[in-house]
Amino acid sequence: MKCGARLWVDEQWLKQNAVKNVVWQLPVIQSNLTDHDWIHPKVKYHAFINDNSICDKYSQMTDFFETGIEESELMKNKELACKKCLKNLGINYS
Ligand SMILES: [Zn+2]
Repeated sequence: MKCGARLWVDEQWLKQNAVKNVVWQLPVIQSNLTDHDWIHPKVKYHAFINDNSICDKYSQMTDFFETGIEESELMKNKELACKKCLKNLGINYS
């Protein structure tokens, strides 16, 4: 099971090394037409590591945008967070 083995390594790496570098942010979609940052009202916070969300959905420069939230705040309101990102970080949703 080569595929499964690789996934296991990734999960271990995330849990051991990456958690402290996680940035929780709302994905920001930039519109060229209005030159205005736009955030979808229903969008969830995603966990970004090295400018990529760990659920693989989004990519953005997390240093540039200020749509972040403290992890401690987010853990009190886990429904605001992307379930896949939580799962990939080994955080229990329930
Ligand atoms: Zn996510």
